Amino acid sequence: MNSMALRTPYLSKSRLISAWQCPKKLHLEKHHSDLAVITPQMESAFAGGHQVGDVAKELYGTADSVEVAFNFKTMVAETQQLIEGGADFPIFEATFRYENVLVRVDVMIPDGDGWRVIEVKASTSVKDYHVLDCAIQDWVLRNSGINVTSISLAHINNQFVYAGDGNYDGLLLENDLTEEVRTLEPSVVDLVAKARDAVTGPMPDIQVGTHCNKPYDCQFQSHCWPSDTKYPVTGLGGSKAKLGEYVALGCRDILDVDENSITAATQQRIYRVTCKGEPEILDGAREALEALPYPRYYLDFETIGPGVPIWSGTRPYAAIPVQWSCHSEQEGGALHHEEFLDLSGDPPMRALAEKMIACLGDSGPVLMYTSYEKGVIEGLIDRFPDLTEPLQGIVNRLWDLHPVVKENYYHPDMLGSWSIKAVLPTINPEMDYSKLEGIAEGMGASDGFIEAINPDTDMVRKLELEEQLLRYCKFDTEAMVEIVRFLRNS
Ligand code: SF4
Repeated sequence: MNSMALRTPYLSKSRLISAWQCPKKLHLEKHHSDLAVITPQMESAFAGGHQVGDVAKELYGTADSVEVAFNFKTMVAETQQLIEGGADFPIFEATFRYENVLVRVDVMIPDGDGWRVIEVKASTSVKDYHVLDCAIQDWVLRNSGINVTSISLAHINNQFVYAGDGNYDGLLLENDLTEEVRTLEPSVVDLVAKARDAVTGPMPDIQVGTHCNKPYDCQFQSHCWPSDTKYPVTGLGGSKAKLGEYVALGCRDILDVDENSITAATQQRIYRVTCKGEPEILDGAREALEALPYPRYYLDFETIGPGVPIWSGTRPYAAIPVQWSCHSEQEGGALHHEEFLDLSGDPPMRALAEKMIACLGDSGPVLMYTSYEKGVIEGLIDRFPDLTEPLQGIVNRLWDLHPVVKENYYHPDMLGSWSIKAVLPTINPEMDYSKLEGIAEGMGASDGFIEAINPDTDMVRKLELEEQLLRYCKFDTEAMVEIVRFLRNS
């Protein structure tokens, strides 16, 4: 180990980006990782990045390209050997270290007497922190003696339509950032110093605010934001900047906030109801629901939106319905349940649409929660123009429960959210999404579906996922039935 390695802590590119977002985040990552709360969304984003990386290897790879295996002890030396050995083929995950800043380069392609460098991201556009990411690489590589002829960011082209033939040529769009990156070199030097201070020094004194979710949702929010009171101030909702100001003033609970400082109508309502300590139920919901004819249908979809499309005719990140649940209710309250889920791995959209059309008949309101279902059905119309008439008929019967709930109901325990998951336990504590085993939220359902159709998933796991997916989607429509009954009887 050289003396520099002994004196200065090792920093990866992701740690530098953490320091750029918030030095306290980096300090906590290094010294208190046990305080992190990793959400399914964070895990899912990580997995998506891997899939895009695999496609990049296919697109940029040649018969003789090499990938440097992840191994702390060998990856820098292995890269050095390849370069010094005169490699004239693409290298993936080449690893360099300068002043103990370690970077792994997604793609390096020989370019005359130098190298063309490509960083691959699962994003659909170039963000400012991507440019910084490339600048960190450029700084380490050039100071390691590499002639970087250009540095580009390759991101997902959301207009790409997959032909279903395993060919992802066109999925990635390259942007040459060389010029911008070179102007950022002084910022990289400053950032490295800032990150070192965050790692070696005491916990940086940073207040919470908008940076807690930009560019990434920070994993330490439950530590930094107040969470140990009955109605944490974050439950007031609205802008994170404003909430951060309340926290800076010493407010931990909604009840600590000065009423006169609240200007937005929604926040005033949340404050008023929370102070009162009782739910607010207005007559508008009952009146609207009483006017709804029977039979009533309660519909919910689950969708997937992979960055690397799976089926022919689909685009990156487009929401593709793969499952639905429907409860139908007759006058008098009799319920009937139907559902659709196909885990064969074949495109399920056509059968999903046809079975939904058959299930929903041709009359009666179709209740959904938020306008998401409308967009999904309109997507099916685009995909299957021959089904336009019955699908448009369903769109015309859609009835969104969410705005009715939002306008007419608030319980202090909803903590500023009118999501179905926040509303349900306040009207029936027995029905709580957090009590569901395994899949308990939309992102989990999406990841669960993708895992279930993977040919490498064993049968036992697949059956377990099938049970969880069916249970979760059914729970969503049961929840709507429960909310409607509650509001009608209130
Ligand atoms: S929650 Fe906010 S203040 Fe706390 S470490 Fe994360 S970004 Fe920094």
